[in-house]
Amino acid sequence: MHFSADHDALRETVRDFVARELRPHADEWEAAEGFPDSVFTRMGELGLLGLRYPEEYGGQGGDYFSAIVLAEEMARCGSGGVGMAISVHTEMATPPILKWGTEEQKQRYLVPAIRGERIAALGITEPDVGSDVAGIRTRADRVDGHWRINGSKLYITNGVRCDFILLVARTGSQEDGARGITLFLVDKKLPGFTVSRKLKKLGMHSSDTAELSFNDVEVGDDAVLGEVGQGFYNLMWELQGERLIGSAGSIAGAEVAFEETLKWCKEREAFGRPIGTFQVNRHKLVDLYTEITVAKNFVYSVAERWDRDEYPVAEISMAKLLVGRVTTQVADTCLQLHGGMGYMAETGISRYFRDSRLIRIGGGTDEVMKEIIAKTALGL
Ligand SMILES: Cc1cc2nc3c(=O)[nH]c(=O)nc-3n(C[C@H](O)[C@H](O)[C@H](O)COP(=O)(O)OP(=O)(O)OC[C@H]3O[C@@H](n4cnc5c(N)ncnc54)[C@H](O)[C@@H]3O)c2cc1C
Repeated sequence: MHFSADHDALRETVRDFVARELRPHADEWEAAEGFPDSVFTRMGELGLLGLRYPEEYGGQGGDYFSAIVLAEEMARCGSGGVGMAISVHTEMATPPILKWGTEEQKQRYLVPAIRGERIAALGITEPDVGSDVAGIRTRADRVDGHWRINGSKLYITNGVRCDFILLVARTGSQEDGARGITLFLVDKKLPGFTVSRKLKKLGMHSSDTAELSFNDVEVGDDAVLGEVGQGFYNLMWELQGERLIGSAGSIAGAEVAFEETLKWCKEREAFGRPIGTFQVNRHKLVDLYTEITVAKNFVYSVAERWDRDEYPVAEISMAKLLVGRVTTQVADTCLQLHGGMGYMAETGISRYFRDSRLIRIGGGTDEVMKEIIAKTALGL
């Protein structure tokens, strides 16, 4: 079994918090295209932002499955963007600080992030470069004993509200490719660091997504996370965690959509009987249920390996690819089974249809996952 009694108790706590403090505001936050920063501080107070961080930094000292419980329960909050923003903060931008940060960096960034007092973002993607991470162009140049950063980042989740960013920048030449990249921790308040635009999106409306620009932003050596020139390799580790938690949250979202649809199919009648009793629909529901169950259990099996400090790159990529396929199928079928109501903004299904599409793009596209699997598992 993947979940202990402690995980079950945590699940109950998070489910209760989500139902009382997030779910009632989901429609309002979707319409406003944003949720308040106080959600971070509240979750920090409840200890939910540091579930698997060591107690010495204010965390709860749990294992990876506590992070999965959080991702799964956040999928019940009715607005995909909230769970995504939290997961960028807890599972994408901050794990590298624990792994490679100096004690000073941990105190300055990780501890307040776990308390929900400083919000984190992760800056990889640029206007001209996404999939080909080794080709990024944002530069950090050594000038008078400092690093001077110039460039821009695109599609950055939490980009508008963040207090700091884990920034991927080029410290070598463009020809150095992956070898010339370094990670930096950069405070948003620094001169030259600006939000150029808040971006409008197909889904995930409650999360903020920004274009950020860096014009002669100066930081010291204490902003370098890990070693100079090691940023690409460290980022690859970060991306495994990002893909895994994204897969766990997405398949949980599919399960919620499925549960709602099953209920609907038992209640909604056509031709004098519940639509779920037509064999064609019953079989559709069975297919979805089977695919969700298989995908979820595959994610759990990979998560167990990740929790044991293994590095199952091919399997993590397969999990994300599989979850992307299943969620697309679930979103389309659930919307169809809702008929006209599935197309209405007032239903969770139409929102889920929009939100769920992101897993096939964010954190590496389906095609990038296939390239990784081809290389690492098939030797192609
Ligand atoms: C809502 C949202 C939130 C995001 N949040 C963040 C964030 O917080 N931080 C961050 O850094 N980034 C973030 N991203 C960016 C995301 O990770 C990238 O969009 C993604 O990695 C793809 O990069 P791209 O958009 O530049 O697409 P491109 O790389 O331009 O790809 C375009 C198409 O070409 C295909 N393609 C590219 N290379 C190949 C190949 N070798 N073989 C076959 N096909 C290929 C791709 O699969 C895709 O279909 C976010 C994106 C979105 C939409």
